[in-house]
Amino acid sequence: LVVLGIETSCDDTAAAVVRGNGEILSQVVSSQADLLAKYGGVAPKMAEEAHSQVIDQVVQEALDKANLTARNLSAVAVTIGPGLSLCLRVGVRKARKLAGSFNLPIIGIHHMEAHCLVARLIERELEFPFMALLISGGHNLLILAHDLGHYIQLGTTIDDAIGEAYDKTAKWLGLDMSRSGGPALEELAQEGDAESIKFSTPMKQHRDCNFSYAGLKTQVRLAIGSHNINPEIPISSASSQDRRSRADIAASFQRVAVLHLEERCDRAIEWARKIEPSIKHLVVSGGVASNQYVRARLDHVVKKNNLQLVCPPPKLCTDNGVMVAWTGIEHFCMGRFDPPPPADEHEDYVYDLRPRWPLGEEYAEGRSEAR
Ligand code: ATP
Ligand code: FE
Repeated sequence: LVVLGIETSCDDTAAAVVRGNGEILSQVVSSQADLLAKYGGVAPKMAEEAHSQVIDQVVQEALDKANLTARNLSAVAVTIGPGLSLCLRVGVRKARKLAGSFNLPIIGIHHMEAHCLVARLIERELEFPFMALLISGGHNLLILAHDLGHYIQLGTTIDDAIGEAYDKTAKWLGLDMSRSGGPALEELAQEGDAESIKFSTPMKQHRDCNFSYAGLKTQVRLAIGSHNINPEIPISSASSQDRRSRADIAASFQRVAVLHLEERCDRAIEWARKIEPSIKHLVVSGGVASNQYVRARLDHVVKKNNLQLVCPPPKLCTDNGVMVAWTGIEHFCMGRFDPPPPADEHEDYVYDLRPRWPLGEEYAEGRSEAR
């Protein structure tokens, strides 16, 4: 069994080839970070164009590196949501073209399920049921994974995701955004004093497992104003005093942003154990899970609760094709896939895209638990 995975839901164009036994034969990611830095965010039309420009090349490179041709594949897996439809369409069109030409089954993948299940590729002992904290640019989810395709949502964000808060804070601190903001902020935070600014932890009074990062963003903005930091001046040109203030804000922000995760995870573990007393693992995945401070703090929470942390290596935490291919393999093995599309499918065919697609059902008892 050999599956090609294609991912274009946001700003990375990625493809990978993975074997049924979990062996990664190739992985290729083409990032639009440069474009994003230049124009200050994702413009769907521009992102679509960027995907279209590189998709053929990225897929070809993934096949070449795996020493395979499309003929050797068992199936093609592709992200169909959630994400920007214009972007999703580029990956889906490519996947269907390839699948149509080579008579391959096709597997539509949920991007967040892929972030979650890639943990089962790297940790073979990870069996259902388990818990997952999925933290990325657009999502902040606490999940109880009962079984493949069967998830309960214990918590989600009521406004922004933590990755968005990292990105905005990085931008306001004048960091180099030619990568995404998260890694740059993590680096700067190491120079700062995390106790210097007392940001308040979000949602202290809410006894549920939801998240909020909009208020913390506002607190950061105010701190930037009161420390006379000019975001237009890049950190590389800042005076040492100015740099020091920026590092203090970065460290203080990071401490509270992650403390919020810690508190919610603590409670979610309690909830999850009432539903599934046998859980042994907490998976932490999504772009923000590549952060070392995040990993260390959550490891502490997990140990305190007698669980084991499963955190994929950084390259598999941020968007990648491996997670899509692997999730495809999991579904394929359960007989969940679509038949090959017709080889002459028209360009105007209306694809099954799911730009808004919740992962699993909300935990109905959550409200009474929170009382
Ligand atoms: P989603 O998965 O919600 O659709 P996405 O696919 O755009 O969003 P990912 O690639 O999964 O997001 O994650 C990107 C996010 O992770 C960005 O917000 C980025 O700043 C953040 N991130 C990446 N590395 C780090 C890091 N070291 N520290 C903090 N944040 C990070
Ligand atoms: Fe993602």
